[in-house]
Amino acid sequence: MERKWSKFIIPCVCALAVLAAGIIFNHLRVPDYRNDGILRVCLDAGHGADDPGAVSPDGTRLEKDDCLAMIIAVRDRLAASYPEIEIVLTRSDDTFIELDDRCDIANKARADLFVSVHRNSASGSASGVEIWVPSGGPRADKQLAEGILKGLINAGISEDRGIRSGTSGNPSSDYYVNRHTKMPSCLIELGFMTSDTDNQLFDSNFDAYAQAIADGIAAALITE
Ligand SMILES: [Zn+2]
Repeated sequence: MERKWSKFIIPCVCALAVLAAGIIFNHLRVPDYRNDGILRVCLDAGHGADDPGAVSPDGTRLEKDDCLAMIIAVRDRLAASYPEIEIVLTRSDDTFIELDDRCDIANKARADLFVSVHRNSASGSASGVEIWVPSGGPRADKQLAEGILKGLINAGISEDRGIRSGTSGNPSSDYYVNRHTKMPSCLIELGFMTSDTDNQLFDSNFDAYAQAIADGIAAALITE
């Protein structure tokens, strides 16, 4: 009698184990670029300390502060909504990190995605959000950027300036962090510091922007 049961139970347990492994594997499968079974994103707040980045016309608002506040909010949203994703920050306070050190942090952490947040500036009346990806990079860069931009548009931005490669000054050379990080990456220019409209939107839609960026990252990392 016992033998009959074991003949029945063992294949059942095996089948369940295979099913469970399949579910877990499928959940974690793409794009675990480092192939280590851990979903990890590196979040990068632009500038810091003596490098304020762009400054609002009245001088009261610094890009470095907006970047850090947004990155901290994205970290908190990710931690709350997607606990399976590990988070690495290049900076979590008002310190300056060299560009190569930012890339080293992401590369050494074996991050699967790198997302940098900046805010734009212009001498004219430009406004809106643009996301920069590496030229000719894997499709994952663009998919990541598209997911984030779609969410930000839904949250409410002044203008969709699109997904772009190169830099604002040179279309044939990518931003340093896009060039030197080994994983899919993007650099978000989250509105213009020089636009009152964008600054008001940044403040009023702050939580929605953070959630949109977190959701975009999760969508790129987690394949259901
Ligand atoms: Zn910047």
